Amino acid sequence: MEDVIILGTGCAGLTAAIYAARANLNPLVIEGSQPGGQLTTTSEVENFPGFPTGIDGFDLMDNLRKQATRFGTRFEHAVIDKVELEGAVKRLYAGEKAFETRSCIIATGARPRLLGIPGEAEMYGGKGVTTCATCDGAFYRDMDVAVIGGGDSACEEALFLTRFCSKVTLVHRRDELRASPIMADRATSHSKIEMAWNSLPKSIVADDAGKVCGLVVTDAITGSERTIPCKGVFIAIGHIPNTSFLKETLPMDADGYVVPQHGSQVRTDIAGVYVAGDCADHIYRQAITAAGMGCQAAIETERWLAEQ
Ligand code: NAP
Repeated sequence: MEDVIILGTGCAGLTAAIYAARANLNPLVIEGSQPGGQLTTTSEVENFPGFPTGIDGFDLMDNLRKQATRFGTRFEHAVIDKVELEGAVKRLYAGEKAFETRSCIIATGARPRLLGIPGEAEMYGGKGVTTCATCDGAFYRDMDVAVIGGGDSACEEALFLTRFCSKVTLVHRRDELRASPIMADRATSHSKIEMAWNSLPKSIVADDAGKVCGLVVTDAITGSERTIPCKGVFIAIGHIPNTSFLKETLPMDADGYVVPQHGSQVRTDIAGVYVAGDCADHIYRQAITAAGMGCQAAIETERWLAEQ
């Protein structure tokens, strides 16, 4: 049986692993379907303390992984679909395979939210609809694309795409961006970015080859419709926590974020079970706050195990 299993290899999971490993807990980290988490699909991370000129998201996660490995963290690939967390022995199941552990840190992160409009699912991945400019931007060299959303992610995606694309239309449902002022300024003042304000995405249109050729939007004020010609649609409208495997095990809010015990960010209602990062944080959702929660969860775990 393990002393501690950490679910997730994003900033929260790997920071928890570094702390748990340095506390001689010999942690086992289970990595799911997106090793390294969301930062691996980010371009430049400019706000992680300690990197005055920024760091590539993939490199940051690679560094964290190396640091965790250096202190003895073990990694195993599995997608956990069921858990039994009550009691002294906690069981985590990946299909038929069961992992047993005395304690557990859940740091499973979140995934991109989709729109659910016609054309989106049909053309997702390879046919012009995507949620990752860093991964797919280079495929749209010298083409017109649309980015949907009004937050920091949408601005970041739009700015990144200006490196390749001839024109980026940033499609937002209101007339004011949600993004931080610095990101909003950069996006709205960029010569290659055109704003489509008050525009509600209605459907994504395919050409004869089944690939994206336009985005139909409805004007939120007048109700009129128009098609924005584009070869790529980048969706950046927020995230959904990866917590469905925990249903009816831990308290969650209406959006599926794990709700920690009152007075703690990382302690859950079940003894020996902790949460960290975006699966439990719908407010800050930053790499550094996820790392901070991972650190807290590992320290709490160490103390709890010592008490047992
Ligand atoms: P977000 O801040 O929640 O923004 C989501 C955006 O999508 C909002 O503008 C929202 O519109 C729009 N939206 C949501 N559902 C929609 C729908 N069905 N149709 C059309 N538009 C829809 O999400 P985020 O941009 O992913 O950012 C998440 C967190 O990560 C934030 O705290 C952000 O600061 C942080 N972040 C930081 C950086 C950075 O600092 N470099 C980069 C990326 C993300 P409304 O505004 O009308 O609600």
